Amino acid sequence: MSGPVLVSTDLDRTLIFSPRATELLGGGLPRSVVEVHEGRVISEMADVVRDGLAELARFPAAVTVVPTTTRTVRQLQRIDLPFTPRFSIAASGGVVLEHGRVDEAWSRDTAARLARCAPVAEVRVVLDGLVEAGVVLRAHTAEDMFCYGIVDPARFGPEEVERLTAQMLPRSWRVAHQGTKVYALPDALHKAHAIAHVRDRLAAEAGDVPALLAAGDTWLDAEMLELADRGWVPAGSEISRSGPPPWPRVTLTASAGHAAAAEIVAAWHEAVLGAGEQARS
Ligand SMILES: [Mg+2]
Repeated sequence: MSGPVLVSTDLDRTLIFSPRATELLGGGLPRSVVEVHEGRVISEMADVVRDGLAELARFPAAVTVVPTTTRTVRQLQRIDLPFTPRFSIAASGGVVLEHGRVDEAWSRDTAARLARCAPVAEVRVVLDGLVEAGVVLRAHTAEDMFCYGIVDPARFGPEEVERLTAQMLPRSWRVAHQGTKVYALPDALHKAHAIAHVRDRLAAEAGDVPALLAAGDTWLDAEMLELADRGWVPAGSEISRSGPPPWPRVTLTASAGHAAAAEIVAAWHEAVLGAGEQARS
C-alpha cells in the first residue's frame, strides 16, 4: 500500500486467546501470558504475533495499529500489549483512548447517539430478570453504555438469544452471544463508528486518508470488516462458522487460533512494509 495505513484489530480470539480458546480452536504456537486477573491466566499471545506487532510499531509514520475491542477500558488496559498504541477503542466503539486518555469529543458524540436508544438501566432490568429466572448467571453493566451476562453455554442457546432479541429490538438494542457471554448493545454502539473517527483524525494530520486493514472473529466485528479496504477473519471463528466471510475484501485465514493470528499479522507486514516500502519509514 502506498499511503498511510490504519490497522484496526479485535483482540480476543483474533490476536489473543484464553487457554480454553486455544484448547477449543487449536493452532497453538509458542506463546506468552499477556493477561492475568485474580491470579488466573486470562489471555496469551503467540511470540511471533508479539514480535510482529512490535515490529509494526517501529513505523509510526506508515502504520497506526488500533486495538478495537468490546472490552471495557479497565479490561483492555489489563492486557500487556507488545507496543503502546496511540489510539485504542473500547466498549465496542463507545470509548476512544488516545495515549491512554479518554477522547472527550468522541464521548460527547457517543452520548448523543446513545440518547436515541433505550437507556442502559432499562436493559439492565431485563438482564436482572433473567438472572432471577436462572437463565443468566450474572449480569454486568459496562462503561454505563451496554450490558452483558455470564451464561452457561449448555443452557443458553439460540432460543434464549431469540427471546432476548425480541425484547431488545423495540428498544433499538441488539444481542450478541459468544460462549459464556451474552451481550446486549445499543444500536448506536459500533466499532466502525469509532474507527471512522480515528481515521478522520489521522487523515486530518497526514492530509491523506489512511487505508484501513481490519481483523475480527465475531459479528461484533462485522461493520468494521465491512468498512475495511482489506480484512481478515480467523478460521474456526464465530463468523467463519456461518460460511465464508460475506464481504468481498475479507479473507478467511487457512489456520485457526494463534496460528491464524500469526497469519494475520504477517499479512499486515506484507501490506504495510512489503516490497520496497521500508524506505518510507
Ligand atoms: Mg473477538
